[in-house]
Amino acid sequence: MNHIYDMLIVGGGPGGYTAALYAARAGLEAVVLEKLSAGGQMALTEQIDNYPGFEDGVDGFTLAEKMQAQAERFGAKTELAEVLSLDLRSDPKIAETSEGTFYGKTVVLATGATPRELGVPMERELAGHGVHYCAACDGMFYKGKTVAVVGGGDTAAADALLLRRVAKKVLLIHRRDTLRATKIYHEPLMQAENVEFHWNSVVTQLLHDGKFTGVRIRDVFTGKETDLPCDGVFVSVGRRPATELAAGQLNLNEGGYVIAGESTGTNLPGVYAVGDVRTKPLRQVVTAVADGAVAVHEVQRYLAGG
Ligand code: NAP
Repeated sequence: MNHIYDMLIVGGGPGGYTAALYAARAGLEAVVLEKLSAGGQMALTEQIDNYPGFEDGVDGFTLAEKMQAQAERFGAKTELAEVLSLDLRSDPKIAETSEGTFYGKTVVLATGATPRELGVPMERELAGHGVHYCAACDGMFYKGKTVAVVGGGDTAAADALLLRRVAKKVLLIHRRDTLRATKIYHEPLMQAENVEFHWNSVVTQLLHDGKFTGVRIRDVFTGKETDLPCDGVFVSVGRRPATELAAGQLNLNEGGYVIAGESTGTNLPGVYAVGDVRTKPLRQVVTAVADGAVAVHEVQRYLAGG
């Protein structure tokens, strides 16, 4: 007879490990299926200053290790296994992984989302050192400095509005001549004295001399290239939610996120989505951990037949 867990948690980021912590403390048998190591996107963040309880900030890798250790203190298990496919409709639910097959009465999908990259040379090497993907996380490093924001959607507009209050100057670089962002963002951005627009432009190079010094942009019509010196660049060109495993099973919105509200419940009974992979207004560590706790509350109700 195959072993059946109460909960299969797919992904070991902050949402996944909070679900594991709450499950273990509720006496549920849970396993976190994680491909590499704890933390997800959080583990790549050098300094987290907006997660309460760490007055001097904390690096994401350390916070991830602490979350894992805390969950395991109460008996949560981790399997280092890559999930290859999920059957979310069967009973029990099935995860085929690189380390074998796992069965669960419920599944918590905590696979996260990754920022889209520009795809220019040196982008990975300079990430965290001049190149950033989250203004709410890293904007404070640029107090009184000049930063560029790339993109023209709601994220880029919201990031530029946030950064204009912190930085001396914001260079907004967009490949069209108009923003795609919601209209409410347009006026405050156009009226901000320290926001400079570079329309019809794409970033072709990240400039550096040992450290990041600026971006080279190209006019998409004339081909003319211009160097823009700046202290940092925020790449705000969207995110890619990791929903391949749920394709054809869970309802997704137009951006590819799993449609799930505050209860974290999805269109399938016994399947929950937590953290960055679900539809939500703010994708942060603090909202992911809240989802993990809520999901376990819902799982308990589900298992009790509620
Ligand atoms: P998005 O709407 O997909 O916009 C991405 C932007 O980046 C577009 O302007 C796109 O240009 C540009 N872009 C994409 N790839 C690029 C590349 N390689 N080089 C240069 N530019 C590139 O993504 P998002 O702004 O992250 O928003 C995602 C979803 O979250 C949306 O549904 C949005 O409404 C929602 N959101 C809402 C809020 C809010 O305050 N309500 C805040 C943030 C996000 P094109 O215009 O040419 O395609």
